[in-house]
Amino acid sequence: MVRQRNAKYKTMLNLIFFGPPGVGKGTQAAKVAKHYNLVHISTGDILRAEIKLETELGLKVKDIIASGELVPDELLIEILESTCDKHNGANGFIFDGFPRTLRQAEALDEMMDRRSWKVTKVISLEVPEDELLSRLVNRALEQGRTDDTADVIRNRLVVYLKHTEPLIDYYRKQDIFIEVPGMGTIEDVFASLCGVIDNRY
Ligand code: AMP
Repeated sequence: MVRQRNAKYKTMLNLIFFGPPGVGKGTQAAKVAKHYNLVHISTGDILRAEIKLETELGLKVKDIIASGELVPDELLIEILESTCDKHNGANGFIFDGFPRTLRQAEALDEMMDRRSWKVTKVISLEVPEDELLSRLVNRALEQGRTDDTADVIRNRLVVYLKHTEPLIDYYRKQDIFIEVPGMGTIEDVFASLCGVIDNRY
């Protein structure tokens, strides 16, 4: 049994893309998912799609997202679990924007454990704060996201520092936390990410 579980662990590549808003997680997660044939789960994209469709969930989270606060853990945990269930035979997953709180990180570990899966690596993209702010402002202009106004951007960074940054310790203790420079072109960062992923064992 133990051997089987280990064998299963090795065959899957489950990555968490970690870092503050604007660091480039979404762009890189999409590229890496395509390259390694992984399922890309962006909780922000899932929630925005619900808002667009005006579902019950969408209506519930709309104001929270527009203010830059976090959607309640239980909702996110449910969304994540049902999304993973839809992709049971996957090679692996990239979690982009999840977990954002300790409660979510623990729930993800429990969920993985129940399936004999595990998180392979937590990859943190590192970008200086002034660059982050200018990227977020540009994204507001290009994509018209309602949560990319100056006040909300500031709040999202505050929320990140308070609730999400402490997860660094949680994953450092598991010895799976890796920092990758997020500056340079999209292709430069992608190449660094592939280097880290290919040396994963
Ligand atoms: P993102 O596109 O990942 O920056 O997410 C946009 C917004 O969706 C966040 O500012 C939160 O309001 C909400 N959101 C996305 N993922 C989560 C999560 N894991 N936990 C709580 N709220 C989330």
